Amino acid sequence: MTKPQYEKYCDIPTILVREKFGNANIYNQDAKSLLTKASGFIAAYDFTLNPYRGCQYGCSYCYAAAFSPNPQMRQDWGKWVIVKQNGAEILEKELDRWYKKNPDKPPSIYMSSVTDPYQPIESKEKLTRYLLEVMVAYRPILVIQTRSPIITRDIDLLQRFKHLRINMSIPTGSESVRKDFEPRSPSIKARLNAVKEIKQSIDPLKGYIPKLSITITPLLPTFPSDEAAFINKLQIVDRVVIQEFHASHNRSLVAGTRKEAQEIKEKYAWWYDNEQVKYLTFKEKLVAILTGVQIKEDQEGFGYE
Ligand code: SF4
Repeated sequence: MTKPQYEKYCDIPTILVREKFGNANIYNQDAKSLLTKASGFIAAYDFTLNPYRGCQYGCSYCYAAAFSPNPQMRQDWGKWVIVKQNGAEILEKELDRWYKKNPDKPPSIYMSSVTDPYQPIESKEKLTRYLLEVMVAYRPILVIQTRSPIITRDIDLLQRFKHLRINMSIPTGSESVRKDFEPRSPSIKARLNAVKEIKQSIDPLKGYIPKLSITITPLLPTFPSDEAAFINKLQIVDRVVIQEFHASHNRSLVAGTRKEAQEIKEKYAWWYDNEQVKYLTFKEKLVAILTGVQIKEDQEGFGYE
């Protein structure tokens, strides 16, 4: 057994600190359940599915930090990940239970609401991949929300899902803005290339091409010099979703924009001093430039159909 190196940090009793991966402490936990009844923004789904707790990308505006196990871990958002190590086994049991009660109704599942299922540790852990291997036999309606090109590793499995939407999160078209707000995340180019690869490498005679969205949520500033080129690249998907920043809250267990992001926003006064106008202008440009692409806002954009 690996000796704990960072004890007294995470106060959930079943956790053992296992290793350091990149910038993050990795913990293991036996989860009691993987499927959580969906609520709030994504209440239209039966379940949310989060393979991990915590997220190495540690985006400055991430509302999921509010649901950290304790205030210290909330503060250190991005520097810890809890792996639900028994996830595949538990998920299989839960899906069996679902079909006993609902033999003719595939569950709708949103993966993930408070973590990125393809954050860097997934390249080693393969937990999300194991969950997909379980799920494919159960024919769910599945939405995968990520900002990671690691998802392309699983194209062989993804193409076996008949009802799959992949939401690739790209909140800005300017690389320098991306580096300010989410410095540990993959480049914009890498994310766009991943979407392209998913779309182009699946043979429709051998697999299902998933529905593809780009979620610009929250809409971050894009410099005018980058705007048209960025929007043109979005033509590759069938849906683009935009959303404004959440309101700020300082309390835990309340989703809101964190102080870290509020401070970065000050650097972009040219955008945020007129946020409503910038938002509407950006939306108008999406509508004007993109053809055959749904432009959706807020909750409406996060449905499967
Ligand atoms: S990738 Fe998503 S879950 Fe992870 S820190 Fe960023 S916004 Fe939060």
